[in-house]
Amino acid sequence: AVAETGTVFTMTNEGNGRMVGTLPKIHLYVFGIEKFVKSLSDARYIFKALPRNGTAQRLTAYLSLYTGASEVVLDKETDEKGPKDFYCVILDDPGRREILAEESFREIFDCIRCGACLDVCPAFALLGGHVYGSNVYTGGIGTLLSHFLVSEERAEQIQNICLQCGRCKEVCGGGLHIPEMIMKLRERSMEKHPNPTYKFALDAVSDRKLFHSMLRIASIAQPAFMKQGQPMMRHLPMFLSGLSEGRSLPKIAQVPFRDIFPTIEQDVPNPKGKIAIFTGCLLDFVYVDIAKAVIKDLNSIGYLVDMPMGQSCCGAPATYMGDRENAKKTAELNINAMAAENYDYIVSACPTCTHQLREYEQFFADDPEMLAKAKELGEKSYDFCKLFHMLGGLSDEGDGKELNITYHDSCHLKRSMGVYKEQRELLTHTKGVKLTEMRESDNCCGFGGTYSIKFPEVAAPILERKVEHIKETGAGTVAVDCPGCMMQISGGLDARDIPVDVKHTAVIIAEKRGLM
Ligand code: SF4
Ligand code: SF4
Repeated sequence: AVAETGTVFTMTNEGNGRMVGTLPKIHLYVFGIEKFVKSLSDARYIFKALPRNGTAQRLTAYLSLYTGASEVVLDKETDEKGPKDFYCVILDDPGRREILAEESFREIFDCIRCGACLDVCPAFALLGGHVYGSNVYTGGIGTLLSHFLVSEERAEQIQNICLQCGRCKEVCGGGLHIPEMIMKLRERSMEKHPNPTYKFALDAVSDRKLFHSMLRIASIAQPAFMKQGQPMMRHLPMFLSGLSEGRSLPKIAQVPFRDIFPTIEQDVPNPKGKIAIFTGCLLDFVYVDIAKAVIKDLNSIGYLVDMPMGQSCCGAPATYMGDRENAKKTAELNINAMAAENYDYIVSACPTCTHQLREYEQFFADDPEMLAKAKELGEKSYDFCKLFHMLGGLSDEGDGKELNITYHDSCHLKRSMGVYKEQRELLTHTKGVKLTEMRESDNCCGFGGTYSIKFPEVAAPILERKVEHIKETGAGTVAVDCPGCMMQISGGLDARDIPVDVKHTAVIIAEKRGLM
């Protein structure tokens, strides 16, 4: 609706929209307060963006504008004509007013209802609309609208469906930050109705000493769950069985990387700089070879690497489950442990960790000292492939032996940090490496942090699709940059007995250049 002229408009591709706006004697328009634009000139943006985003058209087949009551035939017998009854019902309800009043959610009103976010959402593609419990509000945007316009309780049930993959944000015609707003809703519901099981688990993960001790104990206990000769755990017992649903799990390293690090020799005469490695839980306790490769790769281009031992989980699990208290606690711990002022850069080989390190500022808006430290840490933090490329790691070196790979983009690396070219350049320049792109390489693998544990029935078909796309390429190796994706994809391949390796870019580079 156009406020200045009182014009209402509809954009449709069927003639029935035009017909009901012209033939009947009574014309009733129902719309929310968010549907107003100031002038006809402003409406042009919607005329353009809605068909482009919704149906890939330059313009819809019908664009009908109504300014007041037009003349219709009132009596067919006598052919009497006159103005029709024209009514506008404007929905100005408390839910809409709440959206308007909340600065962090007001952008919901920028939604032009193009539906592009639904087209790309992996959860919606799999589940369809009914699971969102409302015939009108579905997908990520529907989760937000349901909170304000249907009921908070209903929204609480569906807000965890989101994988936080960020695809909706990439295509959104209104520029909405859907995943971030869903996160805010999760925080609110965690505050209002804390889940004791999740809270207990997140409290444990956020306690560095306790969590690391638990992982060390698990590494000793795990042989009981593994068959001899199996590289991965295929089945877990009792209440843990859901974790191995449709995928195998990697072994916990016998010796964590933090114990290995002091034994690594770094032969770097006249170093160009000093970099601190942030390993995150998966590199420290599972994929220790990735951390070794990162160090060897960076050493090879003249940088020394240090590992601050006070570091712990990056806090992403707490953040994504809405537990702001534990997320802030881990942020504080890591900011102090990493002491960014002592290093030129911070490197992480897990995009989720890198993204989290860059976002620590959000927790310290009212603490200038911590805010400054968080800012420095965030600005110096890079994901491995971005940093290695930036510092001159691109080279044609390589053993020349043929290695056919395909590449899977991590959601955080591509969409949150915009890194997708660098790793491809690093890999394809390496002598012997041949890259065949898979279909939908940037579609989520279904890991989504704790998502694959909470919703195995949703994560499993997403993984299945990823596995199919990998198989189609005929590649013998999948290159990844995220240990979470690595865990999910290698687990899916192993569970299906598909002999395809999954390797981190850092490892492929180190192996092909003879660094490890
Ligand atoms: S972030 Fe991903 S899963 Fe969540 S609503 Fe957007 S597209 Fe769907
Ligand atoms: S949230 Fe964005 S992509 Fe989704 S319907 Fe609204 S404008 Fe379109």
